[in-house]
Amino acid sequence: MSIEVVTTIADMRALVDSVRGASRSVGLVPTMGYLHAGHRSLVERAAAECDHVIVSVFVNPLQFGPGEDLERYPRDLAGDTATAAAGGAGTVFHPTASEMYPEGEPLTRVIVSKVTEPLCGRFRPGHFDGVTTVVAKLLAICDPDRAYFGRKDAQQLAAVTRMAADLNFRARIVACPTLREADGLAMSSRNAYMSPADRAAAPAIFAALEATAAIVVAGERETSVVEAKLSGELAGRPRLDVEYAQARDARTLAHPDTLSGEVLLAVAARCGPARLIDNVVIDLNGPRPAVDAGEIKGEP
Ligand code: AMP
Repeated sequence: MSIEVVTTIADMRALVDSVRGASRSVGLVPTMGYLHAGHRSLVERAAAECDHVIVSVFVNPLQFGPGEDLERYPRDLAGDTATAAAGGAGTVFHPTASEMYPEGEPLTRVIVSKVTEPLCGRFRPGHFDGVTTVVAKLLAICDPDRAYFGRKDAQQLAAVTRMAADLNFRARIVACPTLREADGLAMSSRNAYMSPADRAAAPAIFAALEATAAIVVAGERETSVVEAKLSGELAGRPRLDVEYAQARDARTLAHPDTLSGEVLLAVAARCGPARLIDNVVIDLNGPRPAVDAGEIKGEP
């Protein structure tokens, strides 16, 4: 299937109009590019559920703080276009920053309170405002029936889901499982920053999440005990500088004393030049706890 790269908002709208005019559904996969198998799984899911899939590739300056990795964020449009096409997308939307922000910094931002405040919100001030603002713009431009987001970015998923509900976007927000390398490390464009020694240390994050999920599955419900286990599993691991290791409600990101419903175990840690985030979700609603740790897909 041929794929088209669209760079202007006007052309993107015209394309969406023609797809919708033919009564075909539109799926959107927002990304910052440098696509890996995790992104590709979102594209494939979108292609299975929607008639026309748009993959946006836009390194959004609004979501990077001062001193973060905006300039060195990896880019590969040719590779991304090939990956998007192989996953079944029909369009790559690749606007410039001046196309998206013609006046420079926008005066209007979409701010989701509460769910954006803990976890990464503490360490990356303004980050989620940048994310929800650009996702709102992409939803306004592409007007998709469904938009696909990875569970790996659990707080982003919670914020975007709440924004789409609060602001009545047409799109249904679809949550997709985290894809992992063979040793459990969550796939991420930022993994490319790590040295071989960092890369060897990084899987300890997922190992700690799994060991902690096991005590929740075994019946532990006290948040402080679960968080102590998670921190203990991470303590002393070489090359990991932990920012947070917490247990929260997966949907609201509330921090109750006793865990119930869908429980998010979330970690952020620096590993060399990379800032890594990862999580697992344990659903306590059913007769037995169900762990969603994503899928191992990488080659050993
Ligand atoms: P990014 O390009 O990092 O902004 O990610 C674009 C989308 O891909 C987001 O919805 C991410 O949550 C999702 N994503 C990133 N890494 C993975 C992964 N390892 N597995 C599944 N989805 C992912």
